[in-house]
Amino acid sequence: MEIKQLLNGARQATTDVSFGDTLKSPFKSLIGTMLSARTRDEVTEVVCEQLFKKVKSFQDILDMPTGELEKLVKRTGFYKTKTRYMKNISKTVITEYGGEVPDSIEELIKLSGVGRKTANLVVSVAFGKPSVCVDTHVHRICNRTAVVNTETPDQTESSLRKTVSKSQWSKINRYLVPFGKQVCTPLSPKCSGCPLNEDCPKIGVGKRR
Ligand code: SF4
Repeated sequence: MEIKQLLNGARQATTDVSFGDTLKSPFKSLIGTMLSARTRDEVTEVVCEQLFKKVKSFQDILDMPTGELEKLVKRTGFYKTKTRYMKNISKTVITEYGGEVPDSIEELIKLSGVGRKTANLVVSVAFGKPSVCVDTHVHRICNRTAVVNTETPDQTESSLRKTVSKSQWSKINRYLVPFGKQVCTPLSPKCSGCPLNEDCPKIGVGKRR
């Protein structure tokens, strides 16, 4: 399937989600996305709301006692590691980047706990640059529909960067994440009500609705 058809079908089948103003701040985008690893969006949202009432800058994170920070982010899971990442990121951004979040993927992935998914999302949402943010939904759907044939999210990102025009990049995450949550779900996707049902090869899909 062509990416254009996939994006059109996904857009048609789901409600568009726009990123809130919170993620447009590079500071909040970077910390919030890092905290979202391996946790549900609903939990991340609540935790971030409480966290960002108390910390407004990287310096605030450095100044806050570790135990207090851990308590604030505990619900996101892996909170000790994530707290350590927050402290390390804050220190690096202040000492090496003059307190400003870097706006390139190459620099962002040098930061503690920041992988390509987080870096791509920050570059796209906070800095408005074209970027291909591949999470588990994007990786799964692109393989099921044969837009790519890859083993890992990083390979999917690389393949999409080569084959999809830059003007479409930002739509990939924005359309496919809600599509993956609402229709092309990890288990038992809702193929019967999916606008792509007829053309989709459903690679690797077992039980479906
Ligand atoms: S696997 Fe099913 S739900 Fe997913 S895109 Fe294909 S037809 Fe749609």
